[in-house]
Amino acid sequence: MSLTTVRVALRVRPFNEKELKETHQSGNLITFVPGQPQQISIDQDRRHFTFDYVFPPYKSQADVYQSCIQPLFDQFVNGYNATILAYGQTGSGKTYSMGTSTTATSIATSAMEHVGIVPRFADNLFSWIECQKKQHNNNALYGVKVSFLELYNEDIIDLLNSTNRNACITIRENTNGHISWSGVHEEYIQGSADLLSCLSRGSIARTTASTDMNASSSRSHAIFSVSLIQNISLTVDNEEKIAKTLESKFHFVDLAGSERLKKTNAVGDRAKEGISINSGLLALGNVISALGDESKRQQQHIPYRNSKLTRLLQDSLGGNSQTLMLACVSPADSNANETLSTLKYANRAKNITNTVVLNQH
Ligand code: ADP
Repeated sequence: MSLTTVRVALRVRPFNEKELKETHQSGNLITFVPGQPQQISIDQDRRHFTFDYVFPPYKSQADVYQSCIQPLFDQFVNGYNATILAYGQTGSGKTYSMGTSTTATSIATSAMEHVGIVPRFADNLFSWIECQKKQHNNNALYGVKVSFLELYNEDIIDLLNSTNRNACITIRENTNGHISWSGVHEEYIQGSADLLSCLSRGSIARTTASTDMNASSSRSHAIFSVSLIQNISLTVDNEEKIAKTLESKFHFVDLAGSERLKKTNAVGDRAKEGISINSGLLALGNVISALGDESKRQQQHIPYRNSKLTRLLQDSLGGNSQTLMLACVSPADSNANETLSTLKYANRAKNITNTVVLNQH
């Protein structure tokens, strides 16, 4: 058992064309502090923020993966749970960074520099398995399975379950306080191409479901999960015996756009969606705040049950997982309010301590 804090990475995307035109008159919103790679200033240097990682616009997808995802990957293959939460307003680069768009393609076929976190992870995982098989002289069996859920207005949609998308999912807490989900459709996969095909199938289902519900996927949360099961055996007296089984989970969470409702002028159903999404993110924010409050944490007054999002992600926040929040922002003045609110939200997440254990049986 070991204690670890939630890590926070800030990624500032490049200006888009529209913003570049506006910026001629207004200048840069975010300043990177020379010699202080983890710090940024905002509001003409009036406010400062420090994060575990800061990625200015020129930093590549490979830079992001190498510095903050590879350490989580290394823990994951050693039997520990991991989570990445992508947070930020719509258009800030969450999907680009995660590599979870409907056109997600493999490293082999896509322009290498644009390949995001999940496809890189897929390649990394199956190369690692190949390498392990050689090293252990096949005295190990590896199983990989994936699931893909969408949360929309407190409904959970099972994106890989083509027969019943609204499957009944139960969330259980064991005596150690660890969370497990049942009723989720999981698919065993054999290679990185299978993983990407599940990702792409689920992303297409997500877009279709969103259209059916007259919503956009930016108003729902998506959780793509990969489980790794490792049965390591030993040969004793010419007989093979399973010495240990490790089972770890990696959640890739693309949160709904964090923009406030009033900006979208939403009415009717749209307003309900907006309010609901705000309430999911609000519940997440309340959990983050409570976890940063020593007395609430000791009394175990953490409001996980206030939303399905926080209940599903209970292990990732204050529980059994190594967690990274990837806060994505636009560099433009026109998004100053949203950027500041993302920075404050991400800043609070730094106060969370998780207790990770090796998932061995
Ligand atoms: P979100 O998922 O937060 O709504 P997207 O990931 O769709 O936002 O990003 C919006 C647009 O910005 C997309 O066209 C995307 O390709 C582009 N973009 C985002 N981040 C970067 C980046 N770091 N480098 C290049 N283009 C980016």
